Amino acid sequence: MNPASHQSDPSCPPTGPPGFLARLRVAASLLARLRKPDLQAGGAYRQVRFGKFHLFGRWWRFLAWVLHETFVAIPNGTRGLTINRRVSNCPMWLIDPNPLADHPWCRDPAAVLPASTDTVVIGAGFTGGAAAYHWARRAPANRKMVVVDLGDPASGSSGRNEGLVVMGRYFSMVKQCMLNTLPELRPDLDAGGRKRLAHQFADVYARAAYRNAALIEQTIQREGFDCNYVRDGWVQARTAEEQAALDDSVREAQETGFDDWTKISAEEAARRSGMRLDHPAGFSRQAASWHPAKWVWSLFDRALAAQTVALFTRTRVTSVTNDEGRYRVETSRGVIHARHVIYATEAYTPALEKMFHDAILPMQEQAACGDGGPKTMKPCIGISGTWHFAGRYGRRVLFGSGGSRLADCEAGRNRPSRFLSRFVVSQIHRTYGDHRLHMTNEWSGTVGYTPDQYPIVGSLDRRGRYIVAGMCGSGSGVSFNGGRCIVNRILGLDDEPDDYPAAYFAPSRLLNTAHHPWPAFEA
Ligand SMILES: Cc1cc2nc3c(=O)[nH]c(=O)nc-3n(C[C@H](O)[C@H](O)[C@H](O)COP(=O)(O)OP(=O)(O)OC[C@H]3O[C@@H](n4cnc5c(N)ncnc54)[C@H](O)[C@@H]3O)c2cc1C
Repeated sequence: MNPASHQSDPSCPPTGPPGFLARLRVAASLLARLRKPDLQAGGAYRQVRFGKFHLFGRWWRFLAWVLHETFVAIPNGTRGLTINRRVSNCPMWLIDPNPLADHPWCRDPAAVLPASTDTVVIGAGFTGGAAAYHWARRAPANRKMVVVDLGDPASGSSGRNEGLVVMGRYFSMVKQCMLNTLPELRPDLDAGGRKRLAHQFADVYARAAYRNAALIEQTIQREGFDCNYVRDGWVQARTAEEQAALDDSVREAQETGFDDWTKISAEEAARRSGMRLDHPAGFSRQAASWHPAKWVWSLFDRALAAQTVALFTRTRVTSVTNDEGRYRVETSRGVIHARHVIYATEAYTPALEKMFHDAILPMQEQAACGDGGPKTMKPCIGISGTWHFAGRYGRRVLFGSGGSRLADCEAGRNRPSRFLSRFVVSQIHRTYGDHRLHMTNEWSGTVGYTPDQYPIVGSLDRRGRYIVAGMCGSGSGVSFNGGRCIVNRILGLDDEPDDYPAAYFAPSRLLNTAHHPWPAFEA
């Protein structure tokens, strides 16, 4: 085959570095297309990567990085990338028809919201689906739940994500995040006290997350959910500088018994994921991949069969107010009175409840998918580098990165950065080498971060308003168990373990620090 025909054959990866003109073309197209999401993503990257330097040093390094990426790394790493003339912003998981789209209006246009109910759930993603499923499993026939969503089920982050069922964040990471914020939250503690408390927080979080993962697997198997669940783990590449931290985190995982988090050699990482690495990688042994939207649809499918749960899509909640011992939930289709309200609105929460501004930060993450990709990329396993994630699902490869903070009112926006997509493809090229990839879809979603990167699961007012949120991009590691615990509390059931004690997870930890019932030190 001569070189020219090799280059034009879509199945052959391109070879050789791009010429000067080709580089210039890529750079010009990158710079000409810079938009607000690109600048926001760039600003977030500058802060994370170079935040430790003073202002001048930070900017100088950032600009050098931009020039290198624009003229060298991205043109080199995206030689095999072609982009559809019209890139769809439909997330890969929502290309499949949504069986609950426009429910119940598509079948019953005259349907009306009930005037009153026991519990209203706002949001129909992982969290709303979990609440509905557990309600259907446990509530007596006379106690009804109504779920409303401004879109269709799984149209928020739950249908726009990477598709991994995570074991939660690993122990050391949770502990470190708590340690970083405890000086502000608990100025009364000395360094030793903060260390002990951070350890306790990580312990309670990881225990809940491990049960969450077990419950998800048991539920999928027991119910026979068809959501492409495969438990093959998650390989996370680590650089030379990150090796010491990896060793520490794996040692701590073993010492504490939360030993899902391990280290594997570069050879084993290649065998499992196809990535060519120079250093050992982190590995979550029990992470799984799934079709996240099908998970949500399956939860609702079971819940709606039970007659105690009703779902109303395309219905926006505009306010929740107290009304003589009940809650008045105002929606775009009328008012519902309820004894309880569950906020399953994650990153959208501050737009609905202003008190969450600066307590739940909406952060944009994005992903894209296309046909082809590296032939050596193994299917259905989580793959991450320092700045990106990727995965192969059938003929498609999904890849993405994140996150920059959005204004509260922008939560849920679907405006990805093309610069970021190209950057991620060039990152994949580093560990997989030459390949061809035809990008067809590109989208963004918003995840909810708390300042201490620890979720909130509990009561908002010690009466009937509850929330599960602030899952920091690890919603599959919290939502199912969190939804279960909240439903059990509302139903007054104490025959199952409650993994989210108020001392750790109550929203007052963020909203009312001085009056939060902080946990005592354990022996
Ligand atoms: C690109 C990307 C990759 C990710 N990868 C992973 C991953 O691999 N694994 C993982 O565990 N997590 C991942 N996440 C995070 C994960 O998707 C979220 O943590 C999870 O989906 C949160 O679920 P949720 O149900 O709480 O929120 P959402 O799915 O965001 O659902 C909230 C719902 O509330 C509705 N809503 C909001 N406001 C209102 C209102 N006023 N009235 C009515 N309805 C309202 C919205 O329409 C939405 O459907 C990723 C996220 C993104 C964006």
